[in-house]
Amino acid sequence: MRRALPAVCLVLALALSSCAPQKRTASFFAMDTFMELTVYGEESVLDDTRALIERLEGELSVTDPDSEIRALNQNGTAELGEDARSLLERALEICALTGGALDITVYPVVRAWGFTVGEYRVPEPEEIAALLEKVDYTRISDLTLPEGFMVDLGAVAKGRASDEAVRIWGEAGVKSGLMSLGGSVYAMGTKPDGSRWRVGIRDPFSDGLLAAVEVEDRAVVTSGGYERYFEENGERYHHIIDPKTGYPARSGLASVTVIGGEGTLCDGLSTAFYVMGLERALELWRSARLEVEAVFVTEDGEITVTEGLEGSFEPLGDYKNAEIKVVGRG
Ligand code: AMP
Ligand code: MG
Repeated sequence: MRRALPAVCLVLALALSSCAPQKRTASFFAMDTFMELTVYGEESVLDDTRALIERLEGELSVTDPDSEIRALNQNGTAELGEDARSLLERALEICALTGGALDITVYPVVRAWGFTVGEYRVPEPEEIAALLEKVDYTRISDLTLPEGFMVDLGAVAKGRASDEAVRIWGEAGVKSGLMSLGGSVYAMGTKPDGSRWRVGIRDPFSDGLLAAVEVEDRAVVTSGGYERYFEENGERYHHIIDPKTGYPARSGLASVTVIGGEGTLCDGLSTAFYVMGLERALELWRSARLEVEAVFVTEDGEITVTEGLEGSFEPLGDYKNAEIKVVGRG
């Protein structure tokens, strides 16, 4: 009996390994960023995910002449498919939730700074003041835009893409996978060995990592001025615009990471929190009882994390001995 055991184990191990889903990876460029997918499942899941992301990009892009959002921006109203309609509606909810720190109608200003096509310039104050007349998400009703208004779903599109990808992974029977869509990461399930995924958070001041968070079924979305910017006359201008001023947000933050179950919400909140700054973001987090956790890095390198991350947040490299401030809901 004792001698038979190794043989039984071998057969069991072989049986298990032959039915365990295989690790498959893909990487490609879409939505203006580098994307990486890892799934434990069929190869076709990767193809379907890429097709999904490219479809969303085609519908939601502000530059693609055939996109539904482009048609909406040109005509003030457009025949919207389910993807664009439902994302617009969700985005408007997040605009309201954040008191307009996220404002999808900020696009005319974003465009004037040249962030849409990379033709950067510093607009004159009068030009910004005139464009701000066309910024106010509360003026959208029935998904129709007032004259001269334009929307940009860039602050939530990658988060939505991750939610949709997770949905099709679930339908395909995938239990375990990780995707990195630029600053929007989603970790589905656990790793096949049952341990949680470790997701890196970038150091906003270097190419290295600031920390890792251990998560399961969570979006981990980072917004930071370092992601897209240009310099002119020694001044740095980044792509996250404060809808109140029309200028790149200067809230004292270098980056914000939001962690939660819904990628779209995390994506919208990471952009909004960056605009709001640490204190206002925490106030909203507490008062609205947002079901997310967050990591804030200030411009002077101080790190604040919300209490739900205790035990799963691990500073790395230069930050190993940094003082981490943990804040509660109070
Ligand atoms: P994210 O990288 O998710 O933080 O989103 C930044 C992108 O959203 C920018 O590249 C702009 O296209 C757009 N954007 C910038 N500022 C805002 C804002 N305050 N509200 C909504 N969208 C914004
Ligand atoms: Mg965002």
